[in-house]
Amino acid sequence: MWARVKLDIAWSDLAYGLRRCVITPDRVLLEESIERRSSAAGNALVCFSVRTAFDLALQTLEFSPGSEILFSALNIKGMAKIARRFELVPVPLDLELDSMLPSPDAIERAITPRTRALVVAPLFGTRGDLSPLIAAARRHGLRVIEDCAQAFSGPSYSGHPESDVSMFSFGPLKFATALGGALVHVRDPVLLEVMRKRASSYPVLSTSAYAGRVLKFAALKLVSARPVLAMLTSAWRLTGRDYEDALAEPVRGVAPLGSVHQIRRRCPAAMLALLERRLFGFEAAGLAPRIHAGRRLLALLSGVVVCPGAGNPTHQFWAFPILVENPSGVMRALRRAGFDAATLRRSATVAPPGDRPWLDPVVAREALARLLVLPCYEGMPERELRRQAETIRLACASPACNPTPERA
Ligand SMILES: *Cc1c(COP(=O)(O)O)cnc(C)c1O
Repeated sequence: MWARVKLDIAWSDLAYGLRRCVITPDRVLLEESIERRSSAAGNALVCFSVRTAFDLALQTLEFSPGSEILFSALNIKGMAKIARRFELVPVPLDLELDSMLPSPDAIERAITPRTRALVVAPLFGTRGDLSPLIAAARRHGLRVIEDCAQAFSGPSYSGHPESDVSMFSFGPLKFATALGGALVHVRDPVLLEVMRKRASSYPVLSTSAYAGRVLKFAALKLVSARPVLAMLTSAWRLTGRDYEDALAEPVRGVAPLGSVHQIRRRCPAAMLALLERRLFGFEAAGLAPRIHAGRRLLALLSGVVVCPGAGNPTHQFWAFPILVENPSGVMRALRRAGFDAATLRRSATVAPPGDRPWLDPVVAREALARLLVLPCYEGMPERELRRQAETIRLACASPACNPTPERA
């Protein structure tokens, strides 16, 4: 079984993280050093997570209740939830399938005198041209927050130069993960200083909690290794349980989307040490095998299914999404063939405000309903990529997977 995600962390990184839980460095020095090395202009702020940074930005920007925040329509559920906690109204901007980004026109349709900010999240490891979108937001005097949680491509890219805030995540499922942490570039020095001051009052996650996290992910890395996963999934099937719940949920549930207390925290020293190692040890060339696998699978699937986001000039294949008519049928066929395809259960489209149903992001919503994420990463040989593409082609062609709607 090819696991749906490959944790982007080596055994040596996990060992380093654990060692730093025992011999802890000075966290203040470490934080300063990461920020200094990340931005010569002094724009960088290390946060506990992207959600922490977004919550900090909203606390600091102090938009009055009822203000509207434009969101590119698809994001993890937690982001719009944070805005709602401030009694702000998330307003979706529908996406274009090709880029999975909103067009600048979407801003014109959604803008009201109450709109204050734009939150745009480039998806799946793609990067498109945000300039027209940001220019449109600026014309209306909006703050621009760029959610680059899926788009880390090395310390040299720090977000669009016109964004007020660009946020990169090093959470467990992200590229170059430190099993937590975020690097944020805040271009308005006043905003930055207030965010920094506020963050410095948060409690530091305990080293033992972080050590527990490292151990948990070491265990998950072990069980998501191919032979182990194959053994486990067949054992699970024998006991009649669903692998989805037993194994996959803990992976996704590592950073629960719950309360404010869970995100209003600071990174412990050991997490910073691992973050520093991941950030500055990062080599863009390391992504080349993954990008190669992604491009191969794209070519193999061309004309078979739609691959949303594939039209972007940059694609690092953090995830490999496809759209199919019957995702559960195709997913079953793929799992039978040994490919652990999955739906995006932590993501959701932002619902339109009750009084403006015409802002329903139809394209994004229908895409999410038809979306499957495929295993596609370095280490998957051409033969397996071909077999996966063929499984999808057959599953999409089979009548069971293309149920004609029954109309009486
Ligand atoms: C992962 C993710 C987040 C959350 O990142 P954390 O650092 O875990 O808070 C936010 N937005 C998007 C688009 C993500 O993929």
